[in-house]
Amino acid sequence: MAERKRSTTSVTRALAPRTKSADVGRGTDAPSTWGLGDGQRVPWEYAPAPESRDVVQLKSRYGLFIGGKEVAPRSGQWFTTIDPATEEPLAEIARANVEDVNQAVAAARRAFKREWGDLPGRDRAKYLFRIARILQERSREFAVLESLDGGKPIKESRDVDVPLAAAHFWYYAGWADKLEYAFPARDPKPLGVAAQVIPWNFPLLMLAWKIAPALAAGNTVVLKPASSTPLSALFFADVCRQADLPAGVVNIITGPGEIGLALVKHPDVDKVAFTGSTVVGKEIGRALAGSDKALTLELGGKAANIIFEDAPMDQAIEGVVNGIFFNQGEVCCAGSRLFVQESIAAPFIERLKDRLSTLRVGDPLDKNTDVGAINNAAQLAKIEELVEAGQAEGAEMYQPACDLPARGYFFRPTLFTNVSQSSRIAQEEIFGPVLSVLTFRTPAEAIEKANNTAYGLSAGVWTDKGSRILSMVSQLRAGVVWANTYNRFDPTSPFGGYKESGFGREGGLHGLLSYLDTGDAH
Ligand code: NDP
Repeated sequence: MAERKRSTTSVTRALAPRTKSADVGRGTDAPSTWGLGDGQRVPWEYAPAPESRDVVQLKSRYGLFIGGKEVAPRSGQWFTTIDPATEEPLAEIARANVEDVNQAVAAARRAFKREWGDLPGRDRAKYLFRIARILQERSREFAVLESLDGGKPIKESRDVDVPLAAAHFWYYAGWADKLEYAFPARDPKPLGVAAQVIPWNFPLLMLAWKIAPALAAGNTVVLKPASSTPLSALFFADVCRQADLPAGVVNIITGPGEIGLALVKHPDVDKVAFTGSTVVGKEIGRALAGSDKALTLELGGKAANIIFEDAPMDQAIEGVVNGIFFNQGEVCCAGSRLFVQESIAAPFIERLKDRLSTLRVGDPLDKNTDVGAINNAAQLAKIEELVEAGQAEGAEMYQPACDLPARGYFFRPTLFTNVSQSSRIAQEEIFGPVLSVLTFRTPAEAIEKANNTAYGLSAGVWTDKGSRILSMVSQLRAGVVWANTYNRFDPTSPFGGYKESGFGREGGLHGLLSYLDTGDAH
């Protein structure tokens, strides 16, 4: 352990500054609370444990991946992707235009007709297995890349994003030659060309959620990653080449939202899968209304994490922290509304604050970092705006004292108490490390408050009574409900929402079904 160089104070600032400031970093002998109570000090802090950036070799420019080749954009235009932790440029990225979209869809259609659509399932499976293995072999490179481009802590990209992405390819590879057993007596057939638009919070994982079932079912794909995190999709293009995937089966185009819209509206696209904001999801829904394209939408959330008085307190605290601070809270299923039973609210919140003060915020590439950088400047501004709104509406804010890096998009872990049900911070998706704490007395009240949202993606229940879990789960209007755990993902398990969180399921057999024509309406 290194000698403690920078201390923190117990001063809680109204809004986290993005730079070190006089009242936060006070010098070497300022007292530290660190959750130990008044007068106690932690005499050390973790030494830096940086992962090597050198495992990723970046080119200065990345073109589009169409028909198995990297091609320059017809627009002749490029944009820059940056490292949100340093604001330094990483690479230039092709800005596709509508002609590029046409070319990518045509390449996917050719590949579907000539080869992939009729390839026996066992042969498609071989490619998927190969992709899974290459992802595992290149896991360190992908983990560093994902943290560099997206700002997420390396321990999460290393232990969650990349292994889960590979697991999706392993899982769906296993189904590719068993579709008639998965859906007996329904003669499952691929839909054709799938247009897939993904967000910036889990770039590689969302790519895997979409591409693995699509390919296993015999479809070809055109995928558009988010403009702030295009790199892992472009590196995935290289994985496709390495796996000898036939040209045109996977195509990657990069560019702004309007290119995503042009892609999903393209007349030769059979299936659209979108993950992102509810606003854009609705726009896509409107654009596709009346067409015969199959559509799945995985949108926002405002999940309730419900703690009963009989819950194991230490585990529940960890579950709450994981629920809202995993990936800086930039998670559609984040447990952003915490409901604590009134009888334990005071000690629970006290211990939660203590735990928050031990979270390490900073360099995403440091293996000790718990909370990395916010993905982009616009997202940081949105978090700041909503946090200000929470204060203006009378909620009480707590932020642990901690230094933030001088550059980059960082925000302190934040907790609000005294939150009213109608407050913006209890209703709107913040998509940041901000937790709103509310209380309840009875299970019925917990259900009513938890369901009082436009969203319905996920929820958590913490109690030692199995019967209560079953009763709560059946009444919560959420696509996924975790019991005595949170943010657990598994390729075999379907994921998706109700209400404004979208429709359709990804993962498991359900996820496969949405890429197949089984004679049912989509
Ligand atoms: P968006 O929904 O705008 O972006 C998601 C993806 O859709 C990106 O690839 C984006 O491209 C693309 N896109 C943008 N506009 C269109 C369009 N009109 N038609 C088709 N595709 C489009 O999310 P934001 O990045 O703007 O984030 C805004 C908010 O959305 C966040 O604050 C958060 O609340 C929520 N969000 C929810 C996510 C989830 O997983 N449910 C994920 C990300 C955000 P481009 O990046 O080029 O704009």
